[in-house]
Amino acid sequence: MMDTAAAEQLAANLDSERRKILRLQIIFGPWWRHYTAPHEIRWTLWAERSLCPYCSSPLPAPSAAPTEAAEQDPVVAAAHIDHMDPLSRGGADSVCNAIYVCAPCNMAKGRKLFVRWLSQLDATRAAAARTLYEVKQGMPPEAFVPGRPQPRRSIPQLELGLDESVLRRLYPRPVVHGPPKGNVSRTA
Ligand SMILES: [Zn+2]
Repeated sequence: MMDTAAAEQLAANLDSERRKILRLQIIFGPWWRHYTAPHEIRWTLWAERSLCPYCSSPLPAPSAAPTEAAEQDPVVAAAHIDHMDPLSRGGADSVCNAIYVCAPCNMAKGRKLFVRWLSQLDATRAAAARTLYEVKQGMPPEAFVPGRPQPRRSIPQLELGLDESVLRRLYPRPVVHGPPKGNVSRTA
């Protein structure tokens, strides 16, 4: 059970991320999820569901400052950001491609392609995981084409500190016209 201080901290983190998302929407328009790394809004992603979508075990809150090492260590961080299409196989470091899962599932999944991973889940969980993938990615997992390892994404940090009205003047329209080329649905 979350204590009051932790609940207040979560609310503050979510509020901070809501402000960040608003600014990302000004810069990237409806395609902001394709251009935003999952760790930028990790509390929002974690708040989307409280159970691991692969095994239904409860997901503890992410640590305040996750590091690459912490993400790999189940003792340090028991909730992991999972790139459904693995970065190492050409999946994007984007909010569209990321969900929170438990550490054991994340490690069991490793760099398997999503369709391969689904085949290892029982039918009910595989169906739920497939639906989650399709909702987040806007395409079925079979449509993913493996490719070269993808870099970690970064976003314009300076702009995120600006006042919303200033940002709207600087960016009267989004800087992109759609998702990045490659393994993505063309929908926002
Ligand atoms: Zn799990």
